[in-house]
Amino acid sequence: MPGFIDTHTHAPQMPNIGSGQQYELLDWLAEVTFPMEARFADVNFAQQVYGSVVRRIIDCGTTTCCYYGTLHLDATKKLADIVYARGQRAFVGKCNMVRNSPEYYIEPSTEASLTATRELISYIRALPLNPRTREPLVRPILTPRFALSCTHELLSSLGSLARANLGLAIQTHVSENASEIAFTKRSFPAASLPAPPVQDAEGAAARETYAGVYDAFGLLRGNTVLAHAVHLENSEVELIKARGAGISHCPTSNFNLRSGCAKVGMLLDRGVKVGLGTDVSGGFSPSILRTVQDASVCSKVVAFQHQPSKDELDPDVSAQNDAQTQHRFANRQLPVATLLHLATLGGAQVCNLAARVGSLAPGKAFDALVVSVRSDAGNPAVWGAELDAALGVGASGGETGMKGGRVRTATQELEGMLERFLFCGDDRNIRRVYVQGRLIGGKEFEG
Ligand SMILES: [Zn+2]
Repeated sequence: MPGFIDTHTHAPQMPNIGSGQQYELLDWLAEVTFPMEARFADVNFAQQVYGSVVRRIIDCGTTTCCYYGTLHLDATKKLADIVYARGQRAFVGKCNMVRNSPEYYIEPSTEASLTATRELISYIRALPLNPRTREPLVRPILTPRFALSCTHELLSSLGSLARANLGLAIQTHVSENASEIAFTKRSFPAASLPAPPVQDAEGAAARETYAGVYDAFGLLRGNTVLAHAVHLENSEVELIKARGAGISHCPTSNFNLRSGCAKVGMLLDRGVKVGLGTDVSGGFSPSILRTVQDASVCSKVVAFQHQPSKDELDPDVSAQNDAQTQHRFANRQLPVATLLHLATLGGAQVCNLAARVGSLAPGKAFDALVVSVRSDAGNPAVWGAELDAALGVGASGGETGMKGGRVRTATQELEGMLERFLFCGDDRNIRRVYVQGRLIGGKEFEG
């Protein structure tokens, strides 16, 4: 199957995975995250930790990954080197953060933040290209940590840098948590914002929103990856769609930090690009499989919390409205096919790499996983795919066994295996991980 695409994760937070589960976002940053990230000032520490982090993420089946580093230039160069050497496809960025950060973990000035950012971009762009495809596997990405860690001056400078580099991707956080949104609006009142580079109705309507802050500084565009988007206002959805930016849905983190449930079905109906993000260590698993499972649960929570209107309860009116509004996913649980889409092609769209990866279509790069759902993969939770054969029962004793008296087709068997893998699988089931045709990880990989 196609490799997984993780559109949002923090490499330096991996050592914290599974700790600090009692906090919400802003306390969790102060108590758990910043103290660990500060340790990456030590390049040797960074080298050792990142080597282990990247190996684990690849073995989880992630063939393309959007990485946040720390604010440190040298440590983030190491991260890029390690990802490059391992052959993973990735975006690597260093955080810009000059305020609302502890004294021991903050950049000294706007100028220092910009200089280090420019240097990292040049460093990553100078890594040798794949000799056969002449394309880079590792790309730089502008990473204002979130609006609150930046001043007007810094966002303005990053906007200029982005305008001079239209191909440079951008990643940041948006509308994750209620306190964070309120704090952002207080820090960036509409009257304090510059005129946005694109002046249209969507921009004007969303000027007083969180996404409107990024738009005002020219940081919201077709290659921007916005993590979370849990509490978007209607005008923000329209703005994000108009700019062509993508959303990284991070349900494991959103449950864990009590942020809320993103309305992914609504976003898909409105034509916004959506992929999945593990958001380690707000999320407590480096595996996109865990994110898939939580994306399914999240859509079910949205569905059962939804209060249907009178029209929605009338099947005739409802069907008519659905046809008119392209209402396919909003307030409904996401089907398995959509979950697979989010984990692969949806993520590729968010990264603007859909022409290269995200599916096994001819002409694309071979970024793929070899998956086994057999018992000998050693995962006790994935079981039953060969039940008839194991028990010596059923029409054929296995391959297309009996279910409820009906013979299942090969396609149904395959879909059943996929669903088992997505909901109960883990790295033991991921036998081989390929990027650009090169074997780089998985249980059978030795290297
Ligand atoms: Zn994050």
